Amino acid sequence: CALFGIYGTSDAAAHTALGLHALQHRGQEAAGIVTFDGRHFHNHRAAGLVGDIFGEQSVIATLKGYSAIGHNRYATTGGSSDRNIQPIFADFDFGGLALAHNGNLTNAYLLRKELVRMGCLFQSTTDTEVINHLIARSSYSPVVDRIIDALGKVKGAYSLLMLTAEALYGVRDPMGVRPLCIGRLEDAWIITSESCALDIIGARFVRDVEPGEIVIVDGQGLRSIKPFAKQQRRFCVFEHIYFARPDSKIENVGVYEARKRIGMELAKENPVPADVIVPVPDSGVPAAIGYAQKSGIPFELGIIRNHYVGRTFIEPADHIRHLGVRLKHNANRAHIDGKRVVLVDDSIVRGTTSMKIVEMVRSAGAKEVHMRIAAPPTTDPCFYGIDTPEREKLLASRYDVAGMAKFIGVDSLAFISIDGLYRAMGMPGGRDAANPTFCDACFTGDYPIALDDLNDTEDRQ
Ligand code: 5GP
Ligand code: SF4
Ligand code: MG
Repeated sequence: CALFGIYGTSDAAAHTALGLHALQHRGQEAAGIVTFDGRHFHNHRAAGLVGDIFGEQSVIATLKGYSAIGHNRYATTGGSSDRNIQPIFADFDFGGLALAHNGNLTNAYLLRKELVRMGCLFQSTTDTEVINHLIARSSYSPVVDRIIDALGKVKGAYSLLMLTAEALYGVRDPMGVRPLCIGRLEDAWIITSESCALDIIGARFVRDVEPGEIVIVDGQGLRSIKPFAKQQRRFCVFEHIYFARPDSKIENVGVYEARKRIGMELAKENPVPADVIVPVPDSGVPAAIGYAQKSGIPFELGIIRNHYVGRTFIEPADHIRHLGVRLKHNANRAHIDGKRVVLVDDSIVRGTTSMKIVEMVRSAGAKEVHMRIAAPPTTDPCFYGIDTPEREKLLASRYDVAGMAKFIGVDSLAFISIDGLYRAMGMPGGRDAANPTFCDACFTGDYPIALDDLNDTEDRQ
Protein backbone atom coordinates (compact mmCIF):
# COMPACT_ATOMS: atom_id res chain seq x y z
CA CYS A 1 0.00 0.00 0.00
CA ALA A 2 0.93 3.64 -0.32
CA LEU A 3 0.74 6.51 2.16
CA PHE A 4 0.78 10.24 1.56
CA GLY A 5 0.05 12.88 4.20
CA ILE A 6 0.47 16.64 4.15
CA TYR A 7 0.00 19.37 6.76
CA GLY A 8 -0.01 23.09 6.21
CA THR A 9 -1.12 23.90 2.67
CA SER A 10 -4.39 25.15 1.24
CA ASP A 11 -4.26 22.54 -1.56
CA ALA A 12 -3.87 19.53 0.69
CA ALA A 13 -6.17 17.24 -1.32
CA ALA A 14 -4.67 18.13 -4.72
CA HIS A 15 -1.15 17.49 -3.42
CA THR A 16 -2.26 14.22 -1.88
CA ALA A 17 -3.88 13.06 -5.12
CA LEU A 18 -0.63 13.76 -6.99
CA GLY A 19 1.40 11.95 -4.33
CA LEU A 20 -0.88 8.93 -4.52
CA HIS A 21 -0.59 8.96 -8.29
CA ALA A 22 3.21 8.75 -8.00
CA LEU A 23 2.71 5.82 -5.62
CA GLN A 24 0.22 3.95 -7.79
CA HIS A 25 2.65 1.03 -8.15
CA ARG A 26 2.18 0.28 -4.43
CA GLY A 27 -1.51 -0.49 -4.83
CA GLN A 28 -4.03 -0.36 -7.60
CA GLU A 29 -7.21 -1.68 -6.08
CA ALA A 30 -8.59 1.40 -4.39
CA ALA A 31 -7.65 4.81 -3.07
CA GLY A 32 -8.93 7.33 -0.56
CA ILE A 33 -8.24 10.80 0.82
CA VAL A 34 -9.40 12.36 4.10
CA THR A 35 -8.91 16.10 4.68
CA PHE A 36 -9.52 18.48 7.56
CA ASP A 37 -10.49 22.10 6.93
CA GLY A 38 -10.26 23.49 10.45
CA ARG A 39 -13.84 22.55 11.33
CA HIS A 40 -14.84 19.47 9.36
CA PHE A 41 -13.33 16.33 7.94
CA HIS A 42 -14.05 15.41 4.34
CA ASN A 43 -13.41 12.10 2.70
CA HIS A 44 -13.67 10.32 -0.60
CA ARG A 45 -12.76 6.70 -1.16
CA ALA A 46 -13.39 4.40 -4.09
CA ALA A 47 -12.20 1.32 -5.90
CA GLY A 48 -9.93 1.92 -8.90
CA LEU A 49 -6.93 3.97 -9.92
CA VAL A 50 -6.00 7.33 -8.44
CA GLY A 51 -6.45 9.16 -11.75
CA ASP A 52 -9.96 7.80 -12.17
CA ILE A 53 -11.00 8.56 -8.60
CA PHE A 54 -9.35 11.95 -8.07
CA GLY A 55 -8.74 13.16 -11.62
CA GLU A 56 -11.84 15.39 -11.62
CA GLN A 57 -11.32 18.87 -10.21
CA SER A 58 -14.85 18.71 -8.83
CA VAL A 59 -13.92 15.80 -6.58
CA ILE A 60 -10.82 17.54 -5.27
CA ALA A 61 -12.87 20.69 -4.66
CA THR A 62 -15.07 18.85 -2.16
CA LEU A 63 -12.00 17.80 -0.17
CA LYS A 64 -11.34 21.12 1.50
CA GLY A 65 -8.58 21.62 3.99
CA TYR A 66 -5.00 22.39 4.86
CA SER A 67 -4.20 18.87 6.01
CA ALA A 68 -4.85 15.48 4.40
CA ILE A 69 -3.88 11.85 4.36
CA GLY A 70 -4.31 9.44 1.47
CA HIS A 71 -3.90 5.76 0.82
CA ASN A 72 -3.59 3.39 -2.15
CA ARG A 73 -4.84 -0.04 -1.37
CA TYR A 74 -3.28 -3.31 -2.33
CA ALA A 75 -5.12 -6.06 -0.51
CA THR A 76 -3.03 -8.28 1.72
CA THR A 77 -5.70 -9.03 4.30
CA GLY A 78 -9.39 -8.39 4.41
CA GLY A 79 -10.46 -8.89 0.81
CA SER A 80 -11.33 -6.20 -1.69
CA SER A 81 -14.76 -4.99 -0.54
CA ASP A 82 -15.51 -1.25 -0.43
CA ARG A 83 -15.68 -1.06 3.33
CA ASN A 84 -12.02 -2.01 3.48
CA ILE A 85 -10.88 1.06 1.56
CA GLN A 86 -8.64 3.36 3.59
CA PRO A 87 -8.11 5.82 5.19
CA ILE A 88 -10.56 4.53 7.76
CA PHE A 89 -12.29 7.33 9.61
CA ALA A 90 -14.07 7.29 12.96
CA ASP A 91 -15.31 9.67 15.64
CA PHE A 92 -13.69 9.26 19.03
CA ASP A 93 -14.36 11.03 22.31
CA PHE A 94 -11.54 13.43 21.37
CA GLY A 95 -12.87 14.03 17.84
CA GLY A 96 -12.31 12.52 14.42
CA LEU A 97 -9.33 10.38 13.48
CA ALA A 98 -8.40 9.09 10.05
CA LEU A 99 -5.97 6.21 9.79
CA ALA A 100 -4.05 4.73 6.87
CA HIS A 101 -1.77 1.70 7.04
CA ASN A 102 0.94 0.14 4.91
CA GLY A 103 2.04 -3.25 6.14
CA ASN A 104 0.35 -6.13 7.82
CA LEU A 105 -0.28 -6.90 11.46
CA THR A 106 0.57 -10.40 12.61
CA ASN A 107 -1.69 -10.55 15.67
CA ALA A 108 -4.68 -8.60 14.33
CA TYR A 109 -6.95 -11.61 14.18
CA LEU A 110 -6.31 -12.55 17.79
CA LEU A 111 -6.75 -8.94 18.94
CA ARG A 112 -9.92 -8.65 16.93
CA LYS A 113 -11.45 -11.74 18.53
CA GLU A 114 -10.73 -10.29 21.93
CA LEU A 115 -12.12 -6.85 20.99
CA VAL A 116 -15.28 -8.35 19.53
CA ARG A 117 -15.77 -10.29 22.75
CA MET A 118 -15.52 -6.99 24.61
CA GLY A 119 -18.26 -5.50 22.42
CA CYS A 120 -16.36 -3.67 19.66
CA LEU A 121 -18.29 -3.42 16.41
CA PHE A 122 -15.99 -3.78 13.41
CA GLN A 123 -16.92 -2.07 10.16
CA SER A 124 -14.30 -3.68 7.96
CA THR A 125 -12.40 -6.94 7.71
CA THR A 126 -8.96 -5.32 7.59
CA ASP A 127 -6.25 -5.80 10.19
CA THR A 128 -5.92 -2.00 10.37
CA GLU A 129 -9.23 -1.39 12.11
CA VAL A 130 -7.89 -3.16 15.20
CA ILE A 131 -5.65 -0.14 15.78
CA ASN A 132 -8.71 2.14 15.72
CA HIS A 133 -10.48 0.14 18.41
CA LEU A 134 -7.37 -0.05 20.55
CA ILE A 135 -7.05 3.74 20.36
CA ALA A 136 -10.75 4.12 21.19
CA ARG A 137 -10.47 1.92 24.26
CA SER A 138 -7.27 3.40 25.60
CA SER A 139 -7.64 5.33 28.82
CA TYR A 140 -4.57 7.49 28.26
CA SER A 141 -4.45 11.07 27.11
CA PRO A 142 -3.45 13.03 25.09
CA VAL A 143 -4.10 11.36 21.73
CA VAL A 144 -0.47 10.52 21.13
CA ASP A 145 -0.35 8.50 24.35
CA ARG A 146 -3.41 6.58 23.24
CA ILE A 147 -1.68 5.85 19.95
CA ILE A 148 1.41 4.62 21.81
CA ASP A 149 -0.76 2.51 24.13
CA ALA A 150 -2.58 0.97 21.15
CA LEU A 151 0.59 0.27 19.16
CA GLY A 152 2.14 -1.36 22.20
CA LYS A 153 -0.41 -4.14 21.75
CA VAL A 154 -0.03 -4.79 18.04
CA LYS A 155 2.63 -6.86 16.34
CA GLY A 156 3.60 -6.74 12.72
CA ALA A 157 4.82 -4.43 10.04
CA TYR A 158 3.29 -1.00 9.92
CA SER A 159 3.92 2.39 8.54
CA LEU A 160 0.95 4.53 9.56
CA LEU A 161 -0.51 7.95 8.95
CA MET A 162 -3.13 9.46 11.22
CA LEU A 163 -4.96 12.73 10.92
CA THR A 164 -6.86 14.47 13.71
CA ALA A 165 -8.22 18.01 14.04
CA GLU A 166 -4.93 18.94 15.71
CA ALA A 167 -2.18 17.04 13.98
CA LEU A 168 -0.77 14.71 11.37
CA TYR A 169 1.01 11.65 12.80
CA GLY A 170 3.46 9.38 11.00
CA VAL A 171 4.62 6.11 12.57
CA ARG A 172 6.99 3.30 11.62
CA ASP A 173 7.03 -0.03 13.40
CA PRO A 174 10.05 -0.69 15.65
CA MET A 175 11.86 -2.72 12.97
CA GLY A 176 11.00 -0.31 10.18
CA VAL A 177 9.83 -3.03 7.82
CA ARG A 178 7.91 -0.71 5.51
CA PRO A 179 9.22 2.67 4.32
CA LEU A 180 8.14 6.17 5.34
CA CYS A 181 9.87 9.49 4.76
CA ILE A 182 9.49 13.18 5.51
CA GLY A 183 9.45 16.05 3.02
CA ARG A 184 9.00 19.78 2.98
CA LEU A 185 7.20 22.04 0.54
CA GLU A 186 7.38 25.69 1.58
CA ASP A 187 5.63 25.72 4.97
CA ALA A 188 4.00 22.35 4.55
CA TRP A 189 5.27 19.03 5.91
CA ILE A 190 4.76 15.78 4.04
CA ILE A 191 5.00 12.21 5.29
CA THR A 192 4.91 9.56 2.58
CA SER A 193 5.94 6.04 1.60
CA GLU A 194 8.54 6.92 -1.02
CA SER A 195 10.52 9.94 -2.11
CA CYS A 196 9.11 9.77 -5.67
CA ALA A 197 5.88 11.17 -4.17
CA LEU A 198 7.83 14.21 -2.97
CA ASP A 199 9.35 14.75 -6.41
CA ILE A 200 5.98 14.89 -8.15
CA ILE A 201 4.90 17.94 -6.11
CA GLY A 202 8.34 19.56 -6.07
CA ALA A 203 8.87 18.92 -2.36
CA ARG A 204 12.28 18.52 -0.76
CA PHE A 205 13.31 15.22 0.83
CA VAL A 206 14.13 15.82 4.51
CA ARG A 207 14.79 12.35 5.96
CA ASP A 208 13.34 8.90 6.54
CA VAL A 209 11.10 8.36 9.55
CA GLU A 210 13.19 6.13 11.81
CA PRO A 211 12.06 2.65 12.84
CA GLY A 212 9.98 3.00 16.03
CA GLU A 213 9.61 6.74 15.59
CA ILE A 214 6.39 8.74 15.84
CA VAL A 215 6.48 12.05 14.01
CA ILE A 216 3.88 14.66 14.94
CA VAL A 217 3.15 17.67 12.75
CA ASP A 218 0.88 20.45 13.97
CA GLY A 219 0.70 24.24 14.08
CA GLN A 220 3.95 24.26 16.07
CA GLY A 221 5.88 22.38 13.39
CA LEU A 222 7.33 18.88 13.47
CA ARG A 223 8.45 16.96 16.52
CA SER A 224 9.42 13.38 17.08
CA ILE A 225 9.25 10.79 19.82
CA LYS A 226 10.63 7.28 20.08
CA PRO A 227 8.48 5.54 22.66
CA PHE A 228 9.28 1.91 21.76
CA ALA A 229 12.21 -0.22 22.85
CA LYS A 230 14.95 -0.05 20.24
CA GLN A 231 15.21 -3.10 17.99
CA GLN A 232 17.42 -4.23 15.13
CA ARG A 233 16.20 -2.55 11.98
CA ARG A 234 14.79 -5.03 9.46
CA PHE A 235 13.71 -3.06 6.42
CA CYS A 236 12.06 -5.19 3.71
CA VAL A 237 14.79 -6.06 1.23
CA PHE A 238 12.10 -6.84 -1.35
CA GLU A 239 11.24 -3.12 -1.50
CA HIS A 240 14.71 -2.65 -2.98
CA ILE A 241 14.42 -5.67 -5.26
CA TYR A 242 10.97 -5.04 -6.66
CA PHE A 243 8.32 -3.12 -4.83
CA ALA A 244 9.57 0.46 -4.57
CA ARG A 245 9.90 2.73 -7.56
CA PRO A 246 13.44 2.88 -8.96
CA ASP A 247 13.56 6.69 -8.77
CA SER A 248 12.92 6.63 -5.02
CA LYS A 249 15.55 6.89 -2.34
CA ILE A 250 14.69 4.67 0.59
CA GLU A 251 16.65 4.15 3.79
CA ASN A 252 19.33 6.34 2.22
CA VAL A 253 19.71 4.01 -0.74
CA GLY A 254 18.80 4.91 -4.31
CA VAL A 255 16.56 2.05 -5.43
CA TYR A 256 17.72 2.14 -9.06
CA GLU A 257 21.39 1.98 -8.06
CA ALA A 258 20.68 -0.85 -5.64
CA ARG A 259 18.99 -2.85 -8.40
CA LYS A 260 21.91 -2.25 -10.75
CA ARG A 261 24.38 -3.43 -8.11
CA ILE A 262 22.26 -6.54 -7.56
CA GLY A 263 22.49 -7.18 -11.32
CA MET A 264 26.27 -6.76 -11.23
CA GLU A 265 26.61 -9.15 -8.33
CA LEU A 266 24.34 -11.59 -10.15
CA ALA A 267 26.63 -11.43 -13.20
CA LYS A 268 29.66 -12.04 -11.01
CA GLU A 269 28.10 -15.05 -9.32
CA ASN A 270 26.34 -16.53 -12.34
CA PRO A 271 28.03 -15.71 -15.64
CA VAL A 272 27.01 -17.40 -18.89
CA PRO A 273 28.32 -17.04 -22.47
CA ALA A 274 25.63 -15.22 -24.46
CA ASP A 275 24.94 -12.69 -27.21
CA VAL A 276 22.41 -10.42 -25.56
CA ILE A 277 21.08 -9.41 -22.12
CA VAL A 278 17.33 -8.84 -22.17
CA PRO A 279 15.35 -7.48 -19.22
CA VAL A 280 11.86 -8.68 -18.42
CA PRO A 281 10.23 -5.24 -18.36
CA ASP A 282 9.82 -3.15 -16.37
CA SER A 283 10.85 -4.66 -13.08
CA GLY A 284 13.94 -6.46 -14.47
CA VAL A 285 15.44 -3.44 -16.26
CA PRO A 286 17.86 -1.95 -13.70
CA ALA A 287 19.23 -5.37 -12.73
CA ALA A 288 19.67 -6.27 -16.41
CA ILE A 289 21.63 -3.06 -16.99
CA GLY A 290 23.90 -4.00 -14.09
CA TYR A 291 24.26 -7.54 -15.42
CA ALA A 292 25.14 -6.28 -18.92
CA GLN A 293 27.67 -3.75 -17.63
CA LYS A 294 29.41 -6.33 -15.48
CA SER A 295 29.41 -9.09 -18.12
CA GLY A 296 30.22 -6.85 -21.09
CA ILE A 297 27.44 -8.50 -23.09
CA PRO A 298 25.21 -6.05 -25.04
CA PHE A 299 21.92 -4.96 -23.48
CA GLU A 300 18.85 -4.85 -25.70
CA LEU A 301 15.15 -4.38 -25.14
CA GLY A 302 14.32 -7.81 -26.55
CA ILE A 303 10.90 -7.76 -24.92
CA ILE A 304 8.54 -4.84 -25.30
CA ARG A 305 5.89 -4.15 -22.74
CA ASN A 306 2.44 -2.81 -23.33
CA HIS A 307 2.06 0.00 -20.83
CA TYR A 308 -1.69 -0.07 -20.69
CA VAL A 309 -1.75 -3.22 -18.59
CA GLY A 310 -1.04 -2.90 -14.88
CA ARG A 311 1.37 -4.99 -12.87
CA THR A 312 0.04 -8.49 -13.45
CA PHE A 313 0.54 -9.81 -9.96
CA ILE A 314 -1.49 -7.09 -8.33
CA GLU A 315 -4.72 -8.38 -9.87
CA PRO A 316 -6.21 -10.60 -7.19
CA ALA A 317 -7.60 -13.49 -9.27
CA ASP A 318 -5.48 -16.25 -10.82
CA HIS A 319 -7.30 -16.37 -14.16
CA ILE A 320 -6.81 -12.60 -14.65
CA ARG A 321 -3.14 -12.96 -13.90
CA HIS A 322 -2.71 -15.59 -16.62
CA LEU A 323 -4.50 -13.42 -19.10
CA GLY A 324 -2.54 -10.33 -18.02
CA VAL A 325 0.83 -11.86 -18.68
CA ARG A 326 -0.02 -12.52 -22.31
CA LEU A 327 -1.47 -9.07 -22.81
CA LYS A 328 1.58 -7.46 -21.40
CA HIS A 329 4.73 -8.52 -23.28
CA ASN A 330 5.86 -9.08 -26.84
CA ALA A 331 9.22 -10.28 -28.20
CA ASN A 332 11.30 -7.83 -30.21
CA ARG A 333 12.29 -10.46 -32.76
CA ALA A 334 15.24 -8.60 -34.33
CA HIS A 335 17.17 -8.84 -31.05
CA ILE A 336 16.19 -12.41 -30.21
CA ASP A 337 16.25 -14.43 -33.42
CA GLY A 338 19.30 -16.71 -33.63
CA LYS A 339 20.75 -15.34 -30.36
CA ARG A 340 21.84 -16.80 -27.06
CA VAL A 341 19.61 -14.76 -24.76
CA VAL A 342 20.00 -14.03 -21.05
CA LEU A 343 16.68 -12.94 -19.56
CA VAL A 344 16.98 -10.95 -16.34
CA ASP A 345 14.03 -10.56 -14.00
CA ASP A 346 13.70 -9.34 -10.43
CA SER A 347 12.04 -12.40 -8.95
CA ILE A 348 10.20 -15.62 -9.64
CA VAL A 349 7.05 -16.07 -7.61
CA ARG A 350 4.64 -18.55 -9.20
CA GLY A 351 6.75 -18.94 -12.30
CA THR A 352 3.91 -18.22 -14.67
CA THR A 353 5.41 -14.97 -16.00
CA SER A 354 8.76 -16.61 -16.62
CA MET A 355 7.26 -19.63 -18.33
CA LYS A 356 5.28 -17.50 -20.77
CA ILE A 357 8.17 -15.15 -21.48
CA VAL A 358 10.52 -18.05 -22.17
CA GLU A 359 8.03 -19.65 -24.52
CA MET A 360 7.62 -16.32 -26.32
CA VAL A 361 11.37 -15.73 -26.62
CA ARG A 362 11.88 -19.25 -27.97
CA SER A 363 9.16 -18.86 -30.57
CA ALA A 364 10.86 -15.60 -31.63
CA GLY A 365 13.89 -17.74 -32.60
CA ALA A 366 16.22 -17.64 -29.59
CA LYS A 367 19.01 -20.21 -29.89
CA GLU A 368 19.46 -20.53 -26.11
CA VAL A 369 17.49 -19.02 -23.25
CA HIS A 370 19.16 -18.45 -19.88
CA MET A 371 17.37 -16.87 -16.97
CA ARG A 372 19.05 -14.84 -14.21
CA ILE A 373 17.05 -13.65 -11.23
CA ALA A 374 17.93 -10.60 -9.13
CA ALA A 375 16.57 -12.15 -5.93
CA PRO A 376 17.15 -15.44 -4.16
CA PRO A 377 14.43 -18.09 -4.68
CA THR A 378 11.15 -16.96 -3.06
CA THR A 379 10.57 -19.94 -0.81
CA ASP A 380 8.30 -18.44 1.86
CA PRO A 381 5.24 -16.19 1.93
CA CYS A 382 5.27 -12.65 3.24
CA PHE A 383 3.14 -11.81 6.27
CA TYR A 384 4.29 -8.19 6.47
CA GLY A 385 2.40 -6.47 3.68
CA ILE A 386 3.52 -7.90 0.35
CA ASP A 387 0.95 -10.06 -1.33
CA THR A 388 2.96 -13.17 -2.10
CA PRO A 389 0.75 -16.20 -2.54
CA GLU A 390 0.59 -19.07 -0.06
CA ARG A 391 3.63 -21.30 0.14
CA GLU A 392 2.22 -24.07 -2.10
CA LYS A 393 1.94 -21.63 -5.01
CA LEU A 394 5.55 -20.48 -4.77
CA LEU A 395 7.56 -22.21 -7.43
CA ALA A 396 10.67 -22.26 -5.23
CA SER A 397 8.83 -24.07 -2.46
CA ARG A 398 7.95 -26.92 -4.85
CA TYR A 399 11.17 -27.34 -6.82
CA ASP A 400 14.90 -26.92 -6.47
CA VAL A 401 16.66 -24.69 -9.02
CA ALA A 402 17.03 -27.53 -11.54
CA GLY A 403 13.33 -28.36 -11.21
CA MET A 404 12.40 -24.71 -11.61
CA ALA A 405 14.55 -24.45 -14.74
CA LYS A 406 12.72 -27.40 -16.21
CA PHE A 407 9.32 -25.97 -15.25
CA ILE A 408 9.92 -22.63 -16.96
CA GLY A 409 11.74 -24.26 -19.88
CA VAL A 410 15.15 -22.55 -19.83
CA ASP A 411 18.60 -23.88 -20.73
CA SER A 412 19.93 -22.54 -17.44
CA LEU A 413 18.54 -20.74 -14.43
CA ALA A 414 20.38 -19.00 -11.58
CA PHE A 415 19.46 -16.72 -8.69
CA ILE A 416 21.57 -14.26 -6.77
CA SER A 417 22.67 -15.76 -3.45
CA ILE A 418 21.46 -14.24 -0.21
CA ASP A 419 25.04 -13.18 0.58
CA GLY A 420 25.39 -11.69 -2.88
CA LEU A 421 22.22 -9.71 -2.25
CA TYR A 422 23.60 -8.31 1.00
CA ARG A 423 26.91 -7.49 -0.70
CA ALA A 424 25.01 -5.58 -3.37
CA MET A 425 23.20 -3.74 -0.57
CA GLY A 426 26.53 -2.54 0.78
CA MET A 427 27.46 -5.28 3.26
CA PRO A 428 30.77 -6.67 2.03
CA GLY A 429 30.61 -9.60 4.48
CA GLY A 430 27.26 -10.79 3.14
CA ARG A 431 24.36 -11.66 5.42
CA ASP A 432 25.18 -11.70 9.11
CA ALA A 433 22.96 -14.58 10.21
CA ALA A 434 23.05 -13.50 13.85
CA ASN A 435 22.11 -9.95 13.03
CA PRO A 436 20.68 -9.49 9.53
CA THR A 437 19.99 -5.87 8.64
CA PHE A 438 16.97 -6.58 6.44
CA CYS A 439 13.82 -8.59 6.56
CA ASP A 440 14.48 -11.32 4.02
CA ALA A 441 11.96 -13.87 5.30
CA CYS A 442 10.52 -14.69 1.88
CA PHE A 443 14.01 -15.90 0.89
CA THR A 444 15.23 -17.36 4.17
CA GLY A 445 12.16 -18.24 6.26
CA ASP A 446 13.68 -16.14 9.04
CA TYR A 447 10.64 -14.12 10.16
CA PRO A 448 11.77 -11.23 12.38
CA ILE A 449 8.30 -10.51 13.81
CA ALA A 450 6.28 -13.23 15.54
CA LEU A 451 3.41 -14.65 13.46
CA ASP A 452 0.81 -15.01 16.21
CA ASP A 453 -2.24 -15.24 13.97
CA LEU A 454 -0.72 -17.98 11.87
CA ASN A 455 -0.84 -20.38 14.79
CA ASP A 456 -4.52 -19.69 15.29
CA THR A 457 -6.38 -22.10 13.04
CA GLU A 458 -10.00 -20.94 13.28
CA ASP A 459 -11.20 -19.77 9.91
CA ARG A 460 -11.14 -16.06 9.35
CA GLN A 461 -12.36 -13.41 6.98
P1 5GP B 1 5.49 -15.11 -11.41
O1 5GP B 1 4.95 -15.34 -12.74
O2 5GP B 1 6.76 -15.80 -11.12
O3 5GP B 1 4.44 -15.37 -10.36
O4 5GP B 1 5.73 -13.56 -11.30
C1 5GP B 1 6.99 -13.03 -11.34
C2 5GP B 1 6.88 -11.62 -11.78
O5 5GP B 1 5.97 -10.95 -10.93
C3 5GP B 1 8.22 -10.93 -11.70
O6 5GP B 1 8.47 -10.36 -12.95
C4 5GP B 1 8.01 -9.87 -10.68
O7 5GP B 1 8.31 -8.60 -11.21
C5 5GP B 1 6.58 -9.88 -10.27
N1 5GP B 1 6.45 -10.02 -8.80
C6 5GP B 1 7.25 -9.47 -7.91
N2 5GP B 1 6.81 -9.65 -6.68
C7 5GP B 1 5.73 -10.33 -6.73
C8 5GP B 1 4.87 -10.82 -5.71
O8 5GP B 1 5.00 -10.58 -4.52
N3 5GP B 1 3.88 -11.57 -6.13
C9 5GP B 1 3.72 -11.85 -7.42
N4 5GP B 1 2.76 -12.68 -7.73
N5 5GP B 1 4.49 -11.36 -8.40
C10 5GP B 1 5.50 -10.60 -8.07
FE1 SF4 C 1 9.75 -7.98 2.46
FE2 SF4 C 1 9.95 -10.60 2.02
FE3 SF4 C 1 10.16 -9.59 4.50
FE4 SF4 C 1 7.83 -9.60 3.22
S1 SF4 C 1 8.97 -11.41 3.89
S2 SF4 C 1 8.70 -7.92 4.41
S3 SF4 C 1 8.46 -9.22 1.11
S4 SF4 C 1 11.54 -9.26 2.77
MG1 MG D 1 8.18 -8.23 -13.38
